[in-house]
Amino acid sequence: MRSIQHRIDGQSVDSSDLNTQDVLNPATGEKAAEIQIASPAEIDRAVQAAKSAFEEWSDTSIATRTKLLYKFRNLVVENEQKIAELITEEHGKVLTDARGEVARGIENIEYACGFAETLKGSYSEQASSGVDVYTIRQPVGVCVGITPFNFPIMVPLWMFPNAVACGNTFVLKPSDRNPSAPDFIVELIGEAGFPNGVVNLVNGGPETVNQLLTHEDVDAISFVGSTPVAKHIYKSGTANGKRVQALGGAKNHMVVLPDADIDLAADAAVSAAYGSAGERCMAISVVVAVGDIGDSLVNAISQRIDKLKIGSGMNPDSEMGPLISQEHKNRVIDYVRSAKAEGATVVSDGSSYSTSEKGFFVGVTLLDNVTTGMEVYRDEIFGPVLSVVRVQTFDEALKMIKMNQYGNGAAIFTRDGGAARQFQKNVQAGMVGINVPIPVPVGYHSFGGWDESLFGDTAMYGPEGMHFFTKQKVITSRWPDPTTSQVDLGFPQNT
Ligand code: NAD
Repeated sequence: MRSIQHRIDGQSVDSSDLNTQDVLNPATGEKAAEIQIASPAEIDRAVQAAKSAFEEWSDTSIATRTKLLYKFRNLVVENEQKIAELITEEHGKVLTDARGEVARGIENIEYACGFAETLKGSYSEQASSGVDVYTIRQPVGVCVGITPFNFPIMVPLWMFPNAVACGNTFVLKPSDRNPSAPDFIVELIGEAGFPNGVVNLVNGGPETVNQLLTHEDVDAISFVGSTPVAKHIYKSGTANGKRVQALGGAKNHMVVLPDADIDLAADAAVSAAYGSAGERCMAISVVVAVGDIGDSLVNAISQRIDKLKIGSGMNPDSEMGPLISQEHKNRVIDYVRSAKAEGATVVSDGSSYSTSEKGFFVGVTLLDNVTTGMEVYRDEIFGPVLSVVRVQTFDEALKMIKMNQYGNGAAIFTRDGGAARQFQKNVQAGMVGINVPIPVPVGYHSFGGWDESLFGDTAMYGPEGMHFFTKQKVITSRWPDPTTSQVDLGFPQNT
């Protein structure tokens, strides 16, 4: 049985107060590991380790930092299968999904490897006579990452490779529900040869987070998780004088226009709504069927979901695994019941799914004729529940997305370039897909939603990530003209 410790200053550290929490395998409901919950003393040790390492690390050459990042990247690639298995064991998602998560994480390390180019700064010669002005970017200090259960290694990799590339040191507080994969990648940081204290990890829950939020030696906080917690992190972190980026929940709409390719749209809706059992912040949870496409679209989606194979993520035949916990499973079932009670048409009822397996499995739910007043429409469910809302016009679809509290992602399916362009221009969301249901930006763009999906002004990873992890310094310089100098420097004199 794994007992997950903390990783502080290059050492595995036990909790001093022996406070532990079970980590369950969602496919079996059985205990897979336990984590030790950090006491205030361990949290402080981790921050102090990061603080002590900062001076030397921020002064380490670009060449050395780059080499270490490449080594780390190669170790993650070599261990891709092992990391994916750890993810599946504690999260439940199918192995192909877990491997996809690792691949997206690697993309972020690769972006960080190129930081020498990204952080070159800018220079304006002769801004005034004999005066040059230039901007450099310097690290912020001790950065903290607080991450959610649904991407246990991809989200940490959105954060710390970029943070340390910029010369910062880092303390990661991963989700307490699946800590083994993040623990392993921080172990790989040590194996790659990063100096002790550059990346540390403490395990725990809200109390751990709250201590990090108020710790006087923490300079910046990156958070990804649900909206209520993101709001709390943003408010508390900024009130304590920290730089904060806090990404929250989502309710992503996929608008399907009457001219769309039905098969393409139905395939996309099924994979984007039910992949990873809907536990993705970019999952599609609402299909907006415009005009007369509703019947044929619902029919096409329904035919596809009948064939979906549900089972343990370790089974190569499974296409959808379990939810993260029994509590979350109950919550998802309650949403399906409330939709029925509020008058939605239940095309497929995942709440009645039964299996001999003991894990936290639910079936897939497809609801038609959902309206914006229903609970199932308003809330982020984070499960395999897809709502279809029918509207008459493209404008109604746009308005509906605008009125929704979240603004993470939105997609349109159409053959009309003009309509797609209107959508791209006017839709109120931070990430937009055109005939692409899950528009997660590649590592060299940045990830972030609008409205209640992001608190702060900086998106995660890519150029905005680098911006978040650095402070700008602008230098205005004037040097005496050597040709008029009183001291003979060997320059021809002006006469
Ligand atoms: P969560 O908000 O419950 O937990 C996220 C982190 O915050 C965890 O490390 C947890 O230990 C900590 N935490 C939980 N409650 C806290 C509290 N009261 N005070 C301080 N810290 C607390 O989120 P989750 O259930 O792990 O993840 C799912 C959520 O994350 C969904 O809402 C999903 O949309 C969101 N998410 C968003 C993005 C994005 O990029 N916008 C990406 C992934 C997940």
